Amino acid sequence: MARHTGPSNGAELRHPPGTFDVMPAESGAWQHVLATFARVVSGAGYGLILTPTFEDIGVFQRIGASTDVVRKEMYDFVDKGQRHVALRPEQTASVVRAFIQHRPTTPWKAWYAGSQFRFERQQAGRYREFHQVGVEAFGSADPDLDVEVMALAWEFYRALGITRMDLLVNSLGDSRCRPAYRRLLVEYLLAHQGDLCDEHRDRIEDNPLRILDCKRPGCRSVAEGAPRQVDHLCDECAAHFGRVVEGLAALSIPFTLQPTLVRGLDYYTRTTFEYAGTGLESAQNALGGGGRYDGLVAAMGGPDTPAVGFALGMERILLALDAEQVALAGGARLDAFVVDFAGGTVARDLTARLRVAGFRVDRSFDGRSPKAQFKAADRSGARLALVVGPDEAAAGTVGIKDLQAAAEQVTVGMEEIVPELSRRLG
Ligand code: AMP
Repeated sequence: MARHTGPSNGAELRHPPGTFDVMPAESGAWQHVLATFARVVSGAGYGLILTPTFEDIGVFQRIGASTDVVRKEMYDFVDKGQRHVALRPEQTASVVRAFIQHRPTTPWKAWYAGSQFRFERQQAGRYREFHQVGVEAFGSADPDLDVEVMALAWEFYRALGITRMDLLVNSLGDSRCRPAYRRLLVEYLLAHQGDLCDEHRDRIEDNPLRILDCKRPGCRSVAEGAPRQVDHLCDECAAHFGRVVEGLAALSIPFTLQPTLVRGLDYYTRTTFEYAGTGLESAQNALGGGGRYDGLVAAMGGPDTPAVGFALGMERILLALDAEQVALAGGARLDAFVVDFAGGTVARDLTARLRVAGFRVDRSFDGRSPKAQFKAADRSGARLALVVGPDEAAAGTVGIKDLQAAAEQVTVGMEEIVPELSRRLG
């Protein structure tokens, strides 16, 4: 059998289809988004969790064999130890696996950030390796916790500057009321079978709820007249949903009741929600979503534990910020750039000393000309150039030139440089 080793000799090496590089010039926005998320959720008692990028395939198969994510889109393979593993297509299953394995005391609240992998058809805003941030909260069935997680995502988006978005909310009922609703829905869909899209016409029984979410015109018009789960909730689910709606109103979070919202993963119960970016095209307007999954921990072999969480797409967040023309602060700027055309010894020693003192400092290498070094200093965005020519080297001094303002270069003694930088940089 032919072994695939990548492009043959001479071919240009590129990242795989459906993936991308984030180069340092663009990564400042990513850092800002991640830092904002960490601030918002850790301020509400969520702790960072890191889980492996790959897991035993069973971890993901338990989240629902009928979902496209599991059926068609997983990157799974048998490793050199003959284990069938998969790159994570989403992270809730991994967090649930970790929860079951380590049994932390509940209530237990965790947040994550990382790559997810799905072998999807390539299209705008849809990648094969993409990034999500999310939270999961275990051990409480309180509807106020549903409101807490929805409010956290809302606050996070707002903190970034996203304003054009809709929070769509629905309840999917639970194991008591969903089966009866499902039967009602199947009956209705069978009566309208001829109008459904090609993919769903003969798959009604597989996953009738997913048909409500289908974007093709046939399914869409059938879905409009379909019975709604919110009208067939048991008393407990109706009370739960009532409290969620009341909580969102109390926190002044605008939302839209969307009875056809079902979400792509099978494990949701009761509350489900999605944030839609109203400034984005409909194919890529899902900013993030989540909901309750009270049955998943037990289904994966753990103790009966209610849980709720969400996952938000990083790429979509950046698209939404772009659409709203929000410019994010870039990465940390340099404080100073050492320009040494007296042999390089001062550049070596002073740069190291200033970094240890906590300043952000860079320098040139290879004994470049003063002109080339000043150009590099400008390009670096540094506030100050610290200039050492033969005269300064002989006198044990350093010239300080403000690169952001038109000011004369001043000279200070080598031993005054740290207090002088502290004074100038605040
Ligand atoms: P899900 O895990 O399917 O509930 O998706 C949660 C969020 O992740 C979505 O709302 C999107 O923002 C994002 N997302 C899901 N799949 C992709 C993908 N293939 N490429 C980029 N973002 C995605």
